[in-house]
Amino acid sequence: PTAMTKTKQLETLDKDHYLHPASVPGQKPKMIFKEGKGIHVTNTDGDRYIDGISMLWNVNLGHGQKELAEAARQQMDSLAFASSFAGYSNEPAIHLASTLAEWAPEGLNASFFTSGGSESNDTAFKIARFYWQLKEQPQKTKFLALRQGYHGVTIGAGTATALHGFHRFAGTHIPDVLHATPHLTACEQGDRNHPQFSESLRALIEAEGADTIAGIIIEPIQGSGGVYMPPEGYLQAVRDLCDEQNVLMIADEVINGFGRTGAKFAVNHANIVPDLMCLAKGITSGYAQLGAVMIHDDIKTVLDTFGQVMAHGFTYSGHPSACAVALKNLEIIERDRIIEQVQQMEHVMTNGLRYLEERHEVVHLSRNKGLIGAFELFQSREREERFPAEWKTGLDFVDMCFDKKLILRALGGADGKSIVALAPPLIITETEIQSMIERLDDALSVFETKYCG
Ligand code: PLP
Repeated sequence: PTAMTKTKQLETLDKDHYLHPASVPGQKPKMIFKEGKGIHVTNTDGDRYIDGISMLWNVNLGHGQKELAEAARQQMDSLAFASSFAGYSNEPAIHLASTLAEWAPEGLNASFFTSGGSESNDTAFKIARFYWQLKEQPQKTKFLALRQGYHGVTIGAGTATALHGFHRFAGTHIPDVLHATPHLTACEQGDRNHPQFSESLRALIEAEGADTIAGIIIEPIQGSGGVYMPPEGYLQAVRDLCDEQNVLMIADEVINGFGRTGAKFAVNHANIVPDLMCLAKGITSGYAQLGAVMIHDDIKTVLDTFGQVMAHGFTYSGHPSACAVALKNLEIIERDRIIEQVQQMEHVMTNGLRYLEERHEVVHLSRNKGLIGAFELFQSREREERFPAEWKTGLDFVDMCFDKKLILRALGGADGKSIVALAPPLIITETEIQSMIERLDDALSVFETKYCG
């Protein structure tokens, strides 16, 4: 069969049998990916696209990295899987845990492995509660999270997630998770006259009682909620608040970690050390399913006193093949100076976004740190007027980019915003960023013709 008819057959099989995550059920797929190389992916019809969002913010070393495939092959050849339960261990998991201790901020030296970000966040919640039980403060069970935060979809993490659709899906809630208004530095520093003080982290802790709060979970830079950067001093203010109120700080670095923001971890920009740090995605550049929760020495010391089985863990905790891929991934990031390269590419992306703002009236509020960025589509910049929410301009614009062979992601639709997110693979070159910007430039012209007359 020709490529076209083969695609049609696959689409039918997909529609009938494959229930997709975060998709409208019963629809044919938008695109069936077949292969990838560097920043490009190709579909079953042979069309080649720039992957401007690293698939799900995770393919950080780009597609078709032979060394990662080889690391998986070698480990699968010798020992594909081994149990980590009940005292068993394996070499890649041991080496990865010790390598992560070198990578992480000072004081975070131990890792619990999972298969992804949601599991990491649920694990962090459980470890935090367990820690308070061992500290004889079992009433410290509640967690605070931020509005617009995304922490995954398992029941615990999904409750912390504050994006409406995900949060409400099938009534999946656990009690004891509260949401604060994000990023109000003054409130966290104690400014009670601030108009939004009553919805701040500080106000919630005070209202609930610090003796009931186990921890605060935040993405240092919010990803799926809309790519929101914390204002200067915010993360330090949260760290100070946690210390003052005896609450654990959980940094969800699932998107941010491993170079995405131009540092090993986004907390490094603020020079703070969280008590727990959740990792996934970029830990293997998406080549294997792996997550981790790193815990501070203070927590590790307390756990070590327990002396009984800590009854938590997944079959794939410490999966040797996944850990071998992660080790190779970290080796390549260091060897090829990927983080330094991201720091250099940061200004290329900033300039590109500025160029788009200059050329297109609809582009507003552009922002980026390292190679995570966004801009928003506005009907009028002067009047700060957005497009009517029901027009779904973000989704429509992303389709226009798609026509220009560029894959991006629209965010914020449920809040009536049209946020366009950019997070290309970290190996992207200056010329490739420029080519992304050119495609955006073309798509914006199409968009303006349709929406601005
Ligand atoms: N935390 C953050 C910040 C994320 O962006 C995501 C996924 O996008 C998750 C957690 C959940 O990770 P996973 O989908 O691997 O469970």
